[in-house]
Amino acid sequence: PPGAEAVATTPRPTGADSGRFRPRRLAGVLRPRTGDEVADLVRAAATARTPLHPVSTGRNWGLGSALPVDDGAAVLDLSGLGRIREVDTRRGYAVVEPGVTQGELSARLTGTDRMLNLTGASRHTSVIGNILERGVGLHRPRAEDLAGLELVLADGVRVRTGWWPSPEGPAVVQPHGHGASLNHLFTQASWAVVTAAVVRLLPRPRSVRILPATFPAARLATAVDTLRAWTTGRLVPATTKIYDPVAARTYGLRKPDGTPGDAYLAHLALTGDTDLTTALADLLAARLREAACPLAEGPPGAADAEAHGAYAGADDPDDALFRRKTGGCCARCLDRRGGLLMFLPVVPFDGAAVETAAALIDAALEEGTARPGITMNVLDADTVDHVVTLRFDPADAASTAAAHRTLDRLHASFAAHGWPPYRPDVDHPRPAAADPELHRRLAGALDPHGVFARGRFAPPP
Ligand SMILES: Cc1cc2nc3c(=O)[nH]c(=O)nc-3n(C[C@H](O)[C@H](O)[C@H](O)COP(=O)(O)OP(=O)(O)OC[C@H]3O[C@@H](n4cnc5c(N)ncnc54)[C@H](O)[C@@H]3O)c2cc1C
Repeated sequence: PPGAEAVATTPRPTGADSGRFRPRRLAGVLRPRTGDEVADLVRAAATARTPLHPVSTGRNWGLGSALPVDDGAAVLDLSGLGRIREVDTRRGYAVVEPGVTQGELSARLTGTDRMLNLTGASRHTSVIGNILERGVGLHRPRAEDLAGLELVLADGVRVRTGWWPSPEGPAVVQPHGHGASLNHLFTQASWAVVTAAVVRLLPRPRSVRILPATFPAARLATAVDTLRAWTTGRLVPATTKIYDPVAARTYGLRKPDGTPGDAYLAHLALTGDTDLTTALADLLAARLREAACPLAEGPPGAADAEAHGAYAGADDPDDALFRRKTGGCCARCLDRRGGLLMFLPVVPFDGAAVETAAALIDAALEEGTARPGITMNVLDADTVDHVVTLRFDPADAASTAAAHRTLDRLHASFAAHGWPPYRPDVDHPRPAAADPELHRRLAGALDPHGVFARGRFAPPP
């Protein structure tokens, strides 16, 4: 097993993060390949008093990628734990390790009657990394895909939470397990290393229909209110994505003269039995044609085969949709070419609130910052998560500084409205715990000596 020197002496990594956050001084990068090696490294780190920052694939673009919050940590890169240990399409779960990407798992499920709840990120991002962030999948929040975790605790002991397949245990997947529900003590947390997870798989729908609908900026509030009414009335599921005119460029929206469009685009995602999706699509088409409706039918090309494939859980072997979103960058070059920051506030699903959010974003823009792309993900009848993507030229110090000042202003103005981001970035860790006493007790019980580096979700010490 590695000794303390394994943690202290690994060469310092180089390389940038796509957001060009403050560079961190790292103690090293550790690349274990098995759970036992992880446990050995955790014990060695405790002896060396070098805090560990675990990442799965480290592609947390726009929030700091693989960087820790504080200087002095060693990055524990778990991408080498890359086994799909088990797939059970009958009961609807897969057991995966941190290095398993959403592309690999969706490819493995090809031809089965199950699918993975994909996110809109690259096929090379980790299923576990995104679940631990409580990221947003196309069909539901990724937190809902989690059934069980395998962990290495701060003293190197290996334990499990939630539901795991076993001959003695319950045969039906039950994410909350029995008794106290412990899985989510370890999501958006930095109290353990996750070495595997049980991930729930969705039934593969017989039919997927994505209806594109467009509306002008002047009708943002009424369009959002209409979409909410359709959501609460169950004409559409709570999975609609709304793209502002910049984000809508990914889907090729153009004005009649061929220049980039200035309309918003919504993707209404209908999935299920073919008769049901056909009936709903006809019904929605009729609504969209009503004179009073603030939305109109969009061009069919604005919800193309790649968009359909993502909702259908299909692997995208060339990462084509992701590359369209990044202006041609692939997963391997995004951190190097960079110039991308993300701000992720959660806003009420309400026309006036969404209009206010758009105004706050406008007001925060520093001179020299390009207009950001905004994608709004409906999460339920009351909540719409905003993905604000700020682009800048990383070779230009002024452009980089202006984007970061804009990000600071977004944090301040949205927090003042009670709409902080659901995932902060490394330069804006959570300012305070809502529950400091409980947090202190849990940290004292799980990691009393600070073996794990402070995460973005932990309050300052
Ligand atoms: C164009 C584009 C589209 C995107 N679309 C989406 C989207 O639709 N939905 C979405 O949620 N995000 C999206 N993202 C953001 C981001 O790329 C993804 O969330 C990505 O999945 C996170 O990186 P990762 O999977 O490599 O996780 P990692 O960076 O490996 O992990 C994330 C964090 O979780 C913790 N962690 C990870 N692994 C472990 C472990 N094994 N043990 C303990 N702690 C761990 C660490 O704190 C780490 O910083 C998008 C980004 C871009 C650029």
